Amino acid sequence: MTERLYYRDGYLTRFHARVVDADAARTRIYLDRTAFYPSSGGQPFDTGTLGGIPVVDVIDEGERVAHVTSAPVTEVDVEGVVDQERRFDHMQQHTGQHLLSAVFVELLDAPTVSFHLGAETCTIDIQRDSLSADEVRRVEMRANGIVTENRPVTVTFHDAREDLGLRKASEREGELRVVSITDLDRSACGGTHVRTTGEIGPILIRRLDRIRGIERVEFLCGMRAVVRARRDFEALQSVSRALSCPLDEAPALVAAQQERLQSAEKARARLATELAKSEGRDLWSSSAPGASGRRFAFRTVPALNDETRALAQGFVAGASSCFIAIAEDPPGVLLATSADSGLHAGNLLKTAVTRHGGRGGGNSALAQGTVPSKDALDAAREELGRDVE
Ligand SMILES: [Zn+2]
Repeated sequence: MTERLYYRDGYLTRFHARVVDADAARTRIYLDRTAFYPSSGGQPFDTGTLGGIPVVDVIDEGERVAHVTSAPVTEVDVEGVVDQERRFDHMQQHTGQHLLSAVFVELLDAPTVSFHLGAETCTIDIQRDSLSADEVRRVEMRANGIVTENRPVTVTFHDAREDLGLRKASEREGELRVVSITDLDRSACGGTHVRTTGEIGPILIRRLDRIRGIERVEFLCGMRAVVRARRDFEALQSVSRALSCPLDEAPALVAAQQERLQSAEKARARLATELAKSEGRDLWSSSAPGASGRRFAFRTVPALNDETRALAQGFVAGASSCFIAIAEDPPGVLLATSADSGLHAGNLLKTAVTRHGGRGGGNSALAQGTVPSKDALDAAREELGRDVE
């Protein structure tokens, strides 16, 4: 059984231990005692070195803790060194989680159902259908208030049968490790924690995600909160610079700009359609009737869109006329005919594209279809041309 030194002292990052077991490759190491925290309870494992060899994973096997190293550990008596910066960051996030979960219960009667400590952000899942912006602000203010009060965070050991007044009942039997924040919270926990709430540093709540009756709350503590707040500020500052407005006015200005952009886009589309229709009419005026007595125009366009349809309709608004447009990517064809042309656009186009493996149709005046390839497009276009010219 491995003695877990981090149970008694979360600040211990250098220790001496004896290798009591290892696998054949001597890269899975078991010690008589360890300060390395194995992944559990939502908190990731510690990194560091054992006898100078990097530790790349630490696994909780129940009775024992396995240390996975990147090279064989050949010594029997080793010095373990835990990466202090990573460990302290985990202690800040983890203690901040206890505090935040307790405040969610205190102010909103909303229990925490799970916790995740990630490489960049942490989340807790709160049993709540929704959280308002005002509730989030209140919880954040209260949590940071308790940070500034610098309350002691203590670890005690108890018999699990005692009435311990825990925030969340524990199913463990035997000895329970209880982590307390003075006058706020008592939780059964095997993780590593700071000694006072002041060491948690600032607590910043960020995004919320609703997942089936659960609200997932993203938060950051300590230096993570400082780094994130700086990045948030820089992003917002670049937006406000681009808009030449004060920071606090940026959101309203972005919303107003977006509205203007949408109405400008609508006006542009309407004008483009009108212009295309007018171009179609001009094209009809400047073209001469062919052998069939009909006027005919053909265009290759980037896409068969509203503008193309307007161009076609402008052209066939003139007497005895027919218009074909093709787009190459994806391969598509459009056919428009005037009412007096004696041609049925829908029937002609459907026959032509179906014969070349495509599909499409329309009414007697306007039809559109797609074909599977460039070759099929050329063939369908030629066939249609012969039908109508
Ligand atoms: Zn804990």
